Amino acid sequence: MSYTEHDRERLVTEAPKTAGLVDAGAAGNGHRSEFARDRARVLHSAALRRLADKTQVMGPRDGDTPRTRLTHSLEVAQIGRGIADGLGCDPDLAELAGLAHDIGHPPYGHNGEKALDIFAAEHGGFEGNAQNLRILTRLEPKVLDSYGSSAGLNLTRAALDACVKYPWQRTEPGGKFGAYEVDADRLAWVRKGAPERRPALECQVMDWSDDVAYSVHDVEDGIIAGRIDLRALADPVERLALAELGHVQHRGLSVDDLVAAAQRLSELPVVTDVFSYDGTLRSSVALKRLTSELVGRFANAAVVATRAAAPGPPARYSADLEVPPVAAAEVAILKTVALRYVMSDPDHKLRQADQRDRLTAVAEHLLATGPAVLDPILQPWWTAAADDTARVRVIVDQIASYTESRLERVAADL
Ligand code: MG
Repeated sequence: MSYTEHDRERLVTEAPKTAGLVDAGAAGNGHRSEFARDRARVLHSAALRRLADKTQVMGPRDGDTPRTRLTHSLEVAQIGRGIADGLGCDPDLAELAGLAHDIGHPPYGHNGEKALDIFAAEHGGFEGNAQNLRILTRLEPKVLDSYGSSAGLNLTRAALDACVKYPWQRTEPGGKFGAYEVDADRLAWVRKGAPERRPALECQVMDWSDDVAYSVHDVEDGIIAGRIDLRALADPVERLALAELGHVQHRGLSVDDLVAAAQRLSELPVVTDVFSYDGTLRSSVALKRLTSELVGRFANAAVVATRAAAPGPPARYSADLEVPPVAAAEVAILKTVALRYVMSDPDHKLRQADQRDRLTAVAEHLLATGPAVLDPILQPWWTAAADDTARVRVIVDQIASYTESRLERVAADL
């Protein structure tokens, strides 16, 4: 594995720790790698903990075993670490990217993201990925530079780069992007020396782990909730409907590829074993076996294909993650199952519209009221703001940091 000093560089040079109970001697903190320290910083961050009260698919307070953004992030981190172990790239980088990949998510997940993007449309918009970078490099209180400005968690370059899925600023409205204009300097520092528009290998590992985690887990949750019946994959009419919907969502995959993926999955014994899921111990064990086997199937497919294409331990830009098209098609069809039977439900849509209205009302209230209602960390940013664009950014930072409970408490008081 070949990571360089450039990869381990931090935005702000840090002094050694001073509160040691024993003299660590020349070893200092040397028993931990720089990337292990980075992983610990993300794990200990307040922004990560707040994900416990942010929606993944179902709300944090729905059901007895909810998947929240936090538990989803832990699962992505776990899958990413496993893939990195298989590839020989740094496992701490892949794991921390999994932990951090949704850290910028506002209340109500992607739905809240839409509402905030509309709220801030004239002022640079909102994107969960751009917010990730902002939290990691500015908003999360941990390290100050010599002028007293925040460097956020002050992670190494390779760690930040592992979290940047879209290494560019906004190019078109609605398009994904990784940094707001005000954070262009941060993105440029992270991407120094990196090939244009190409995410690092560790980031590609996180991205695939995210796809695998949510495609498999959304199906698992949907089966438990009684919304998803995987017999649909074995039914030719339903299978075609799913493939057509899937093709609209995943343009690179043909309807035929998706039909074939559905058929392949429907014939796996671990899938047929859950056709009659009824919540008993026996079927709960069968369902757990399904999720575990599918995660392994997709993770290993990428490990084996990548190792075949690039033998030897890779790092950052020495290799790309190879995802076999059959695995990509199967993951896509599972996502489509959740989309068709869970996300498209009319009650789910109504609830989402309420959530967007609530979030927008609170954002407008904060903008109209000003610094007194902001967290102390954000007040100086408001005071220093020279124009509406800067003020809207402060409000966006504030709302994005809210948990859903907090947003609802503020909304109830309006
Ligand atoms: Mg995710």
